[in-house]
Amino acid sequence: MTIYLDVERGFSFWPIMIIPKKHRGTVLETPQIAHESDHYNRQGWLVLWWIFRYFTSKKFRMQEETRAYKAQIAEYAKILPGRADEYRVLKANSMATLYRGMCTFDEALAALKE
Ligand SMILES: [Zn+2]
Repeated sequence: MTIYLDVERGFSFWPIMIIPKKHRGTVLETPQIAHESDHYNRQGWLVLWWIFRYFTSKKFRMQEETRAYKAQIAEYAKILPGRADEYRVLKANSMATLYRGMCTFDEALAALKE
């Protein structure tokens, strides 16, 4: 179930996926859905285990966010292929700043290029 809310960032807690209302109808909507769908599909019935691992293991968080951001960037590249590299840099910055010291910018950019 996808719900649009007035939140800054999207998140998933299976069976609910939250997408920021501000992205609805913009170029950022389907990339955001691709990101949260990856989390959503990985969580499934194991959502509590996933959430526990996400908040207790930096390695797991990095692995899950790398997958989700790659899906997000791939979706964005379908819409604006000429700006995909720029978008990847922005998302590497997000990974380096929004996840409690999960990684550095260089580590994020390297992971997103693999
Ligand atoms: Zn995520």
